[in-house]
Amino acid sequence: MFFEKEYSINTIINNDIEKTKVYWDESSKQIFLMCRNETYIKVLLKSKIVEKSKKKLIEITKEKAKYYKLQPKKIYVKDQKSRWGSCSSKGNINLNWRLSLCPLFITEYVTIHELVHLIHFNHSKNFWEKVHELMKNYQIAKNWLRRNQKDIFLILT
Ligand SMILES: [Zn+2]
Repeated sequence: MFFEKEYSINTIINNDIEKTKVYWDESSKQIFLMCRNETYIKVLLKSKIVEKSKKKLIEITKEKAKYYKLQPKKIYVKDQKSRWGSCSSKGNINLNWRLSLCPLFITEYVTIHELVHLIHFNHSKNFWEKVHELMKNYQIAKNWLRRNQKDIFLILT
């Protein structure tokens, strides 16, 4: 699952393949991985998914920021080991690429959470009230993360 769409992964391993290659076919929802050696498959797949996640997560966050009239300085998408997102005191927002593997309402919650930190740089009552104002059912997303975090963090590690 990548941004709520199901893709099938096809791998072609062949000694004659000179260069590892990924072909992402959006219309048929298929990902083709071509490489010489099985050990490269995971690395290859991960780098492609991270690259695609970056683009899309930055796009989603920018759109949301614009909608709520908030201005993060920079948006980074990272390979964080245990966090979904963070907001620095400089106003930079960091997001975990693995959000692309979660349902969209999770991405929505995490981006809103980090954007609200631009107003309240803490987890105070005011912070949570603002999150609630922007996303009424955020608690469902919080619970989902609590339940699924461990499994999602094991994907492509
Ligand atoms: Zn927070």
